[in-house]
Amino acid sequence: MTDLTHGNGALGPSGNSSGETLEELREQVDQLNNQLVELLSRRGELVAQIGRIKSSEGGTKFYDPKREEDQLRLVRQANKGPFTDAAVSAIFKEIFKASLDLEETREQRKLLVSRKKHPEDTVLTIGDVSIGGQEPPVLIAGPCAVESEKQMDSAAQLVAELGGKILRGGAYKPRTSPYGFQGMGVDGLKLGRQVADRYGLQFMTEVMDTRDVEVVSEYADILQIGARNMHNFSLLREVGAVRKPALLKRGLSATMEEWLYAAEYILSGGNEDVIMCERGIRTFEKWTRNTLDLSAVALVKQESHLPVVVDVTHAAGRRDLLLPLAKAALAVGADGIHVEVHPQPATAMSDNEQQLDFAEFREFVAGLNI
Ligand code: PEP
Ligand code: MN
Repeated sequence: MTDLTHGNGALGPSGNSSGETLEELREQVDQLNNQLVELLSRRGELVAQIGRIKSSEGGTKFYDPKREEDQLRLVRQANKGPFTDAAVSAIFKEIFKASLDLEETREQRKLLVSRKKHPEDTVLTIGDVSIGGQEPPVLIAGPCAVESEKQMDSAAQLVAELGGKILRGGAYKPRTSPYGFQGMGVDGLKLGRQVADRYGLQFMTEVMDTRDVEVVSEYADILQIGARNMHNFSLLREVGAVRKPALLKRGLSATMEEWLYAAEYILSGGNEDVIMCERGIRTFEKWTRNTLDLSAVALVKQESHLPVVVDVTHAAGRRDLLLPLAKAALAVGADGIHVEVHPQPATAMSDNEQQLDFAEFREFVAGLNI
């Protein structure tokens, strides 16, 4: 092994023991760099070919730890120094990682949710509402849960008066406790439908169970998939099979990739009308219910053609942050804002900490200026 303590400083201007000057040695290094890049490109092409073969055989996983370990063993055997085995392994691990990225980029290119597959923004038309692309941001608002005719009617009237387009209200509620209010079920669906029609609004409501997809589709204009169900692949497939737009909330701890793949489940079933909804993720922070991930909004807009809305209510879990978060969401490119409003939040059957009352909702919409 060469003595590693010999740096450039050991070489005088007139050269080294073989009589070569510093410039000549650097020129050789430059040439070797070019050859290394050329070899890396050739390696990349081969890896891409392997990826294509794996894809054609139906494979979706490109990471193969055993194959990497075998390669590292051979590389270490071939290493004659001056680099240590650990240094050579580290360099090759970077090469493996870059190769894998190359593969995954090719894989993403094929995803239906990806902008690489569909470069233009998807604009959804739901009744008289358009969402996505250059359309003005849409306001989705309403109570957390459908509780009564009076409650829904007064909320819907205000949502319509203030320019909201989509009325929300859960008839099936995902509650932490099995003893909590679970929603009105079909009666709630019927109420939501009637009231939305009364004020010319679209009706969005959550579907929690594959067995309810049919009945919810009958009454709702948009099927909401809740955060807790983002990983429910059977439900995603079922929603992929109907012809109703779906709003897909991001899971409580879902990565971007998991969220996009969840949307892919719906699109690959033939339902292309998907709205992505960032609603905050679980972090260590306790002063907010969740942490609104605005980078996710910007990222999904970049990676995908699908419209993205931000649910500020469930993200913050506190009223005082709703307006600044909604403004920030629009600033990063959200296509809509989702917020909960209730005539008497203090006595609401769910989420009474965070639903706006009517005066607060008026203030919110005025401040948002959409
Ligand atoms: C809701 O919108 O009522 C809801 C339960 O939200 P999330 O699934 O985001 O918690
Ligand atoms: Mn709620």
